[in-house]
Amino acid sequence: MSTTVHAGPGVDPLTPVLSANWDDNRAWKLTNYERRGGYNALRKAVAMAPGEVTSLVKDANLRGRGGAGFPTGMKWSFVPKDNPNPTYLVVNCDESEPGTCKDMPLLMASPHTLVEGVVIASYAIGAKVAFIYVRGEVLHIIRRLQQAVREAYSAGYVGHDILGTGYDLDIIVHAGAGAYICGEETALLDSLEGRRGQPRLRPPFPAVAGLYASPTVINNAESIASVPAVVANGRDWFKAMGTEKSDGFTLYSLSGHVAHPGQFEAPMGITLRSLLDMSGGMRPGHRLKFFTPGGSSTPILTADDIDLPLDYETMAANGTILGTKALQCFDETTSVVRATLRWIEFYKHESCGKCTPCREGTWWLVQMLRKIEAGQGEPGDVDKLLDVNENIGGRSFCALADGAVGCIRGAVKHFREEFEAGCHGVPAWELLPYDRSAI
Ligand code: NAD
Repeated sequence: MSTTVHAGPGVDPLTPVLSANWDDNRAWKLTNYERRGGYNALRKAVAMAPGEVTSLVKDANLRGRGGAGFPTGMKWSFVPKDNPNPTYLVVNCDESEPGTCKDMPLLMASPHTLVEGVVIASYAIGAKVAFIYVRGEVLHIIRRLQQAVREAYSAGYVGHDILGTGYDLDIIVHAGAGAYICGEETALLDSLEGRRGQPRLRPPFPAVAGLYASPTVINNAESIASVPAVVANGRDWFKAMGTEKSDGFTLYSLSGHVAHPGQFEAPMGITLRSLLDMSGGMRPGHRLKFFTPGGSSTPILTADDIDLPLDYETMAANGTILGTKALQCFDETTSVVRATLRWIEFYKHESCGKCTPCREGTWWLVQMLRKIEAGQGEPGDVDKLLDVNENIGGRSFCALADGAVGCIRGAVKHFREEFEAGCHGVPAWELLPYDRSAI
């Protein structure tokens, strides 16, 4: 496995792909993108049959970068061939998971990487209309994307008769309205159709019946932005990076108590130790206590797990998931109970209320955690917390409640003593290594 990293502060680019042009002056402009070979992958793709493009992405094993790791090319191949309805591509840029912050810098720095990926993916699945759904709070990114799409129309990469092939595609940049649930793919579809965003029951999966009940491929922004490089360089080039089943390069986001937070492009399967070594480590004078592998919905790991390869298989074998590769790193000054409470408050707030176990369950989890945090829990409350937790998971339409459940499961598994202390009269803050008399 190669261990090169790019795009972190002070880290030299060695095998840059997604972040290759982030340091360029005006990297977001079409001319700058073209100067570095931008849209050559599209030329290559439209010279192939659409099915060949899908097979290439499938063979390369580009797995979905939105969190679940579902194989991108396989999802494309699920689109029914004989469906009378139009096929749509929808790009999910509603990034909202706590700690997750990779798509927005990517879109800000290099929107054409996404636009080129959108045209290639749409061509592969036979879509004539593609939507880029961006969370509504990031107006500057929405404007940048709109500008990139306009430039691509003017240059003939989008619109009518693309590159003289006879293939037509319209791209619509759509602003969400600021709800975490609208990042869930089926709630996103409801929102795009003009309704309140709430998850739909799956199956049918969107690839079969999605937007306007038509076949719809929904991919994360990073997944689609990775497609031009896969098409340009081929399957073997992509598979030479990463691990056996988690191939290629990706963006890892470091945040929290680290010396230099930021985006680090690296091969799949790099370890947190390598990322910290290259980025300057934890903040001076402090040590790692626990971290999320990929956002708050991925059960936490501890400092003992710093040498685990950050790939889908290793994370699953260790009771967690790789998720969005958002590595929130916490040092010894952090209460696990308090961090967990903050995350569960987020899930309670963002629960759309459609499914009772999620709506009521996250509320109860918050009440129980508040008591434990204040040292007012009672003996047996940790088991009660776990019991409520396990009665929420897997009982809702979408993964929001599962995220909350995983969060508590991981925290109690590794730091049960902190939760027990809160049930025996010790508030969370008293466990922290502060000299409170000095405050
Ligand atoms: P999932 O595993 O249910 O589905 C993943 C994708 O594969 C979906 O697009 C789904 O339609 C497709 N799929 C799965 N099985 C299929 C089948 N049999 N036929 C056709 N398509 C199929 O995961 P999910 O509920 O979509 O997402 C959960 C993930 O989202 C979590 O792992 C979490 O890390 C991540 N997440 C990300 C963010 C963010 O901000 N990026 C926010 C919250 C959660």
